[in-house]
Amino acid sequence: MQRIYLDYAASTPVAPSVVKAMKPFFSQKFGNPSSLHSFGREAEIATDEAREVIARFFGVDFGEVYFTSGATEANNWIIQTASRIALPDGAKPHVVTSTFEHESVLEPIRHLEQEGRIEATYLSPSKEGFIKPQDVEAALKGTTVLVSLLYINNEIGTVQPIKAIGRIIQKHSWRVPKMPGKLPLFHSDAVQAVQYGETRLDYLKLDAMTISAHKIGGPKGVGALIARNHVPLTPLLYGGGQEFERRPGTLNVPCIVGLGKAVELLQTAKGERETKRLSLLKRRLENGIVALFPEAIMPGKEPMAPHILNVIFPGIQAQVMLIALDQEGIAVSSGAACSVKSIRESHVLRALGYTSDEASSAIRFSFGKMTTIRHISQALVAIEKVLKRCSNRVTN
Ligand code: PMP
Repeated sequence: MQRIYLDYAASTPVAPSVVKAMKPFFSQKFGNPSSLHSFGREAEIATDEAREVIARFFGVDFGEVYFTSGATEANNWIIQTASRIALPDGAKPHVVTSTFEHESVLEPIRHLEQEGRIEATYLSPSKEGFIKPQDVEAALKGTTVLVSLLYINNEIGTVQPIKAIGRIIQKHSWRVPKMPGKLPLFHSDAVQAVQYGETRLDYLKLDAMTISAHKIGGPKGVGALIARNHVPLTPLLYGGGQEFERRPGTLNVPCIVGLGKAVELLQTAKGERETKRLSLLKRRLENGIVALFPEAIMPGKEPMAPHILNVIFPGIQAQVMLIALDQEGIAVSSGAACSVKSIRESHVLRALGYTSDEASSAIRFSFGKMTTIRHISQALVAIEKVLKRCSNRVTN
């Protein structure tokens, strides 16, 4: 049986040229970039080159790219940083986020809130999956230190109005004595957006952005927090002086080289043609599913990512559907892959106002470079079979 992968939002295959770029750094060029000898310098040059490529791509300086173990660490880092900003009169830092963020943003905020270290406001998205700039404006206070919002929602694919929100935040900015730059800081988890959206921080009016390599044809376990110089990053860990004294630990050289190469490839792969191709695949799948199962609900509306299609199959548990599709060779996910294994209802769909049953009946299809129209046709054949089995209904 041919297996078809429709779960690119969970992870992507590492591009062959990325593997090629990484390979020498496992054995031939194994030096520690902190070492002073030639082996060390060789490794340092490679990580410097990756940092340079990434800095250029996001329109920031070389020293504003911090390598991390992935997006989870980068998100935790910016939130922890915000919680440690010392406000006049010992006021508690206030953070604004939304109820449909990724868990790696929601969980650290909830934790810090429970520990009494921050105050948080969770904005609700509209039923269509958008945060309204005016809601952000209404949530800002004299103690707001951070606004953190997803760029493209990883479950339903809606593109948030980051630039418009950034403008509003700038309008309300304020300063703390002895701190460079203005508050509130504006951060976006752009993990699902870098291949499709605008990525320059200045243009988006962002102070910080999170990226992850394995969502863009790079290896797992590496990402970056891109933070402008005025962001008062405080380390999560203490030890060595790596990453400009802010993130200790020997650099993961092969993976950083892989991340750099993956970003370099985006420069050529990004572009309207690929976006158009993926949008057509998405439309084909969407129309095919509606023809098979007219009750299907597709949350969200444009502007949306071209590579994510979320479908609620009312009355069919996501877990049942997912396993049945897997048996037919079709790999999809239910909601966010990171929170899965034991399938829970989607907190994103609940945040949009869908019922608990609906939020437990959603399947996320996501596409990428290797997805073809034939894959979509084969997926539709499998979906038809599974729907017949799952719902005991005639679907032709
Ligand atoms: N944010 C978003 C939007 C994601 O989709 C993911 C991965 N599911 C993460 C953060 C976590 O990324 P990583 O695996 O690099 O920690």
